Formats: sequence, C-alpha cells, structure tokens
Amino acid sequence: MKLPESILRPVKLIRGGMHLDHQKNTAECESVIMPSPATVYIPLSQHIGAPANPIVKKGDAVFVGTLVGEAGGFVSAPVHSSVSGTVVDVKDLTIGNGTLQKYIIIESDGKMTPDPDLKPFKVENYSDLAEAAKQCGLVGLGGAGFPTHVKLSPSKDTKIDTLVINAAECEPYITSDYRECMENFNDVIEGVYLIKEKLSLERVVICVESNKPKAIEKLMEIASDHRDADDSVKLMKLPSKYPQGAEKVIIYSATGRKLPSGKLPSDVGCIVMNVTSVATLYRFIKTGMPLVAKRITVDGTAVTEPKNLIVPIGTPIKEVLSFMNIDLENADRILMGGPMMGNPVVSDESVVEKRNNAILVMRDQKPQTQTACIRCGRCADTCPMSLYPAMVETALRTNNKESLNSLNVNYCMECGCCSYVCPAKRPLTQVMRTAKAEIRRQK
Ligand code: SF4
Ligand code: SF4
Repeated sequence: MKLPESILRPVKLIRGGMHLDHQKNTAECESVIMPSPATVYIPLSQHIGAPANPIVKKGDAVFVGTLVGEAGGFVSAPVHSSVSGTVVDVKDLTIGNGTLQKYIIIESDGKMTPDPDLKPFKVENYSDLAEAAKQCGLVGLGGAGFPTHVKLSPSKDTKIDTLVINAAECEPYITSDYRECMENFNDVIEGVYLIKEKLSLERVVICVESNKPKAIEKLMEIASDHRDADDSVKLMKLPSKYPQGAEKVIIYSATGRKLPSGKLPSDVGCIVMNVTSVATLYRFIKTGMPLVAKRITVDGTAVTEPKNLIVPIGTPIKEVLSFMNIDLENADRILMGGPMMGNPVVSDESVVEKRNNAILVMRDQKPQTQTACIRCGRCADTCPMSLYPAMVETALRTNNKESLNSLNVNYCMECGCCSYVCPAKRPLTQVMRTAKAEIRRQK
C-alpha cells in the first residue's frame, strides 16, 4: 500500500484562477434513480461534431439501449434510446438552446426493458477500445462533449504516453463525478487498468482536488493496486482552485506540458478522460449497455433539498424539477451546469443530455449594473491563460483587427474568472466568445 505522502504534487501550477466557495452540498447524497418520464426527447447532436443520423421512424418499438441514431461522421457519436417504448416522431425542434435540431421522440411504456440484443463487448486491442467508446455513444462527460473514440484513436505518428484522469470537479455545487468514485469505484479502477493496458500507456495520473479527502482515499486504491507493478499509476492532489479541472490546466498540472490553441491533448502526448467517462466505458464493455442515463446534481440557492439524480437522457428539465418538488416561483434563473461555465436554460422544455452534469436553480440573483472599466487589471491577473480581457474588449469596440489578432483570444477557455472578478461587471467572458467568433469570421 502506498503511503499518502507518496501522492504527487502538481508538476506545474497555472497562474491566476480563483478560490470559490465549494458548496458541495450533495457530496454525501447517494444517487437517486429518477423514474422513467412519460416521453423522452433524444437530441441527435449531444456532442462536438456532426449530428447523428436517425435510423428509427414513427411507430418503431425500442428498448433501453437500442441504437436510434448512427454517428454522422468520424467526429460524431451515436445515440440510443433511454427508455423502452415506441418512437412517436422524429422531427426538428427548438427546445434546447433555441437553435433548431433534430430529436427522436419516444413514448415510454414505463417498463425500462433493456434491449435483449445487448451483450458484453470484447476488447482485445486499442482499436477495439476506441470502437467500444464509439458504440457506447461516449462523449466527454465533464461538459465538453468531445467524442471519446476520437480521443482514443490518435494517428499512427502520435505518441501517447500519459492518461490523465480528471476527477477535479472544480465548479461549485457539482458532485456527480465524486459520487461516481464513491458509488461505482470498481468500474473506475477496472476502466483505468483496461485503458492503460490496451493503449500501452507509460503513465496514468489521476488528478483530484485537495478538498475531497474521501475521494483521495478511494482513488489511492487505484495507484496502490497489485496491477501497478512498475509504479506507473499515480495520484496527484491538486489545489482546490477554479478552473483546475479545465483540460489545458489539468494537462499542465499533471505533466508540465502546454497545450497550444487549436491542438488536441494527443498532440502533447496525453489523453484526458473524465472519471465518469472511464467508468461508463468499462460498464459498456462489461454489459453492452450504452450511455443512456446521466447523474445530475440538482442544487442551487432555490433548492431546499438538493440531490444527485440518475436521469434518463432526453428527460425534460421540467420533469426533473417537478420530481424534486422545486418551486420555480422563487427561481430567478436555471443553469445547465455549474455557476461558472453553465449555460442558462432558456426553456424548461430543454432536456438532459449526455454532457450535462448539473442543474442549478438560483434565486436572489440581483441584476448587475455594468459601469466603465476602471483599468484595475484584475481580469488579467486572474486569467489562467494570461490573457488581457479588458484589452480584448477595447479592440472589439474600436474594431482594431490588428490588436485583436495579437491578443491570443483563441486560448480563452471561457472559464468565467475574468467576469467574476471584474468590479465594473463587464461581461468579459461573453466578450471573449464574441472575439473568438470575430477572428473565425475574419479567417
Ligand atoms: S474566460 Fe477566458 S479570458 Fe476570461 S479568465 Fe477565463 S480564460 Fe481568461
Ligand atoms: S477587471 Fe473589469 S474594471 Fe478591471 S481592468 Fe478588467 S475589465 Fe476593467
């Protein structure tokens, strides 16, 4: 058994970032399985890349885990039914973030019968592993939604030596990954060793923030496992500082390598996987059941009894809120995700997707009055990517293309730190998004 003092310290630490109030109110809340909703709306685009193509039609019978949409290209992911029942429609809707996209609408029979054709997936080599991730419909579950099989299929010339397991979960409130470690630890440990073996990786670094002592104790068992004969699986304790779990940040902390803008982790020899993604991949290989449900932390200042729920993908948010008995009269806004990087929910008809890990219902959000920039420099001091958001805002306002192109805006990971610290309440994260779009437009 390795001793706690053998836990690694970060190789490098980013500048900037913030210490936030953790608000991990649901850390000890065992997950509750939400009953099947009457109807699910399965979006065909729950990931980065091309939408899936529907392969079912109105009237088709489906089970839990039945393939209903095939990947629409290499950078894409298939989608599966999250309930048993009947397809009632396949059509375009604007119920998500307001943009039109295709959904498969399935009426549940309430039985949640698994597809009888599902069976364990045999993995003999690294290409089988990527195929398993594809057939599972697995995408980055930390919020990014990047198809996992693409991460696991580096080109022949790319040398991958390190698997970074992201168990940082640095946004306030969210405990869905933490509960995965606590409730499904066997799937996590088996998943780690399977990926390490099939990809012939030299090193695995499991990264967790220092504010999760029980998770550290649990994850230490992976690094102390008898299969780690060459001591190549390490646990790294990161400072609990937001945005420690962001991909660029965690790679830098775990390896000291800088991920250039527009590059993938494989370009610096790494694969980064969220801890729930690792466990989900192992469960698929063991049972054949693809990704059809998500653990969601439901919390926020308008929630009196926060919980972790296991929710069928495609469940309308209004059904989740009704199951939780949340009174929306007192809510000022609903966020899909954490308070820093979550997206405002524009309609309670929106549905739970693969990449969602929290629904926050907030009240007493006083309207923020913007004032002029006082040139205090706090936005630049806190930016983990060493950017100058105030200068980006000026360059955009004055339409100074040369200045805009010199400010490395594509390194922005939209973490929200600059907006959070700005005393003038400038909407700097939105400014950075606009600046990135403007640079794309110019190109
Ligand atoms: S949102 Fe972008 S500019 Fe603002 S602190 Fe984060 S990385 Fe820096
Ligand atoms: S933090 Fe706000 S007020 Fe201070 S320099 Fe940046 S934009 Fe200006």
